[in-house]
This record gives sequence, C-alpha cells and structure tokens, in this order.
Amino acid sequence: MIYLDNAATTRMYEGAVDVYKKYACQSFYNMSAGYNKAIEVAKDIDETRNLILKKLGVRGYIIFTSGATESNNLAIYGSKRNGKWEYVFSEGEHPSVYNVATDLQNQGFVVHFVRLKENGQIDYEQLQNVINERTRLISVMHVSNETGAINDLKRVDLIRQKFSPKALLHVDGVQAFCKLDYKIGDYNIDLYTISSHKFHGPKGVGALYVKNLNALKNITFGGGQEKGYRSGTENTSGIMAMGYAISHFNTKDNYNYVEQLKNLLKEQLSVDKKIKIFDVGSPYILSVTFPGVNGETLMRALQDYDILVGNGSACSTRKAGNRVLESMGYNLNEIKSHVRISFSEELSLKEIDFAGKKIVEVYNNILEKVK
Ligand code: PLP
Repeated sequence: MIYLDNAATTRMYEGAVDVYKKYACQSFYNMSAGYNKAIEVAKDIDETRNLILKKLGVRGYIIFTSGATESNNLAIYGSKRNGKWEYVFSEGEHPSVYNVATDLQNQGFVVHFVRLKENGQIDYEQLQNVINERTRLISVMHVSNETGAINDLKRVDLIRQKFSPKALLHVDGVQAFCKLDYKIGDYNIDLYTISSHKFHGPKGVGALYVKNLNALKNITFGGGQEKGYRSGTENTSGIMAMGYAISHFNTKDNYNYVEQLKNLLKEQLSVDKKIKIFDVGSPYILSVTFPGVNGETLMRALQDYDILVGNGSACSTRKAGNRVLESMGYNLNEIKSHVRISFSEELSLKEIDFAGKKIVEVYNNILEKVK
C-alpha cells in the first residue's frame, strides 16, 4: 500500500504502541489517586507536558484533550466572554474551528471571516481592517490541512500588537507540530492546538497550549482534572504514546526527506501539462487538480493500484464544494478535480516514483473514458 493521505492521519509508531500498552496494562493507575504508583504516572504525564512545551519553545501550560477538535473548541468557547467582544477567524479553518465560529455568529456575536489569498494564506490586509480594540480572539491556522499553505504568524502577531494588542491569538497547529521547525514563543501565541495522530501517535488524544490560564474558562464540568480546564480521567496511555511519537519524530531530517519525496512526485506529475500542482508551503502536503476528472473518481481508481490519496479533508469529503479552495478563488470545476497528496517519512522514493507514474496513467485513462 502506498499511503499518500498522511494529512488525514498517520500510521502509529510501533514504539508508541508499546508505550500505549505499558500504560494500559502495567502502569494503568488513575493518575489522580494518592498512592505512589499513581503519583509516578502523574509524574510521567508531567514530563510529557514539559516535552511539548520544549518542542514548542515556550513556557506555559499544556491541557491534554481528546484531540484537536476538542482543543479548538476549548480554546474558542473557553476564551469567549459576554459583552461587546468580536471574534476573527480565517475562511481556511478546519471545521473544528470554522463551525465554532458560525455557532458564535448564530449566538449573536460579531464574527469576522478573513478571506484567503490565491497562495492559500490569509489576507493580512483584511485581517488588519477587521480587528480593533473590541477583538477578543483571532484564530488562524498554522498550516492548511487542505493546501499546506503556511500562514505568516509573525505578521499576524505584529498586526495584532498594532491594532488589537489585547486580543488573544489562537493557532490550530495540527499540520505544523513536529513537521515544521519553529518556536511559537517567537509569535506570542496565547493558545495552540496539537493532535497526536498527525505525527504517528494514537488517535483521540491531543493538547491545548495555554500561555495564561486566566484567559480561559472550562467548558465542561466534572472532577476538575487538568487544573479544572478539562475534567475527565486523563488518557494516560494515549498521552504517553503521543510523547513517544514526539520524541521520536526527527523534525529536521523528516522535513528534508519529505521535501525530496514531494519534489520527485512534482517532477513525475509535471510530465503531464494538464495537471496543475499547487506547492506553496509545507512539504508534507501537495494540492493537485486534474482537469476534466472528478477527484473522487481518481481517488477510487487509484486505490485499485494500492495507492491512497485524499480528495479533501476527511471531514469535508462528503460535502459538495470546498470552502477553503473557494476562498482562494478556485472555480467549481477546479474544486471537483482537486486531490490532496500528503507525505510521511515512512514512504520510499521508489514508492513515490511508482505512484507518480501511476497517477498520470490512471488520470489519462479516466479522461479517455469520460470523453
Ligand atoms: N485541525 C486541523 C488543521 C486538522 O487537519 C485536523 C484533522 O483533521 C483537526 C483540526 C482535527 O483533529 P482531530 O482529529 O484530532 O480532532
């Protein structure tokens, strides 16, 4: 199987599975209990908090959650305040942010949506125009899960500091964490979301980085775990396995290797001049349109050759159109013929070589049939 849908999820590292099992079957204690065995687990969990903070290059707090969807909901609803506050989101956000934004709008809050430019990044001029002293929160993703476009967070922070210094900055870092080499301390980010299954950890576990706990309120109620911000017994196996994945993910080496994979695939695909390649950001994601062919048809045809590609994020595959590509100015035909190819360091150059040639061949076969 040549798996080219690593932005949807990744294969779990075998070592992470071993760690998961250890904390499920041996060190399985509830970390809130008072006996030594449980206290040891709590210490291990705290080490994972520190590991994430170190990787992010910041001081602050880590709240463990069930994944990025929950982290994003907690970041936005948790920082919401009543009164004349306004909220700013980009049109390129994942549904776990975007649908929260539309819910806030339905509740009667003033919500601004910032367009995307052709290169997939947010329109910084529009951001500048919509923020003001009433802005409570700006939420902008780090790397687009649809296109791989990387937003300039330094620029976002500078705009925020100039026009709305009190506004909180939340960043969905799901497609960036571990994969790109950066320190969020450089961007004065208040809230940052990560998800374990995007970097070879288990599914159903993630975290929210919080710079200042006073900015946040809990949105669920219960036993008061995670300093009261996320009640419920911690998923200790998942958290420890995520920690394993973080410490075994070689950010620099993987980046360089994945870039090589992406360049090879680009070379293969550009043999066919009809194919349009959109490569502007993260080497982990390549957005491609295959004029005249439906992306879903191509995706289904490729699976017969054991090649798996994505046609839009998993959450939006069943919906007509694509809000993110639409915001960038794609027309409906381009959106329909769009395929997302996303890489992992576990792929070989030989596999990419095979996949590239096969994609061109299968695309042209389908074109012939639909003529
Ligand atoms: N944000 C982005 C940018 C994503 O790509 C995803 C994954 O699809 C999510 C949020 C949701 O992550 P999770 O599956 O951990 O809830």
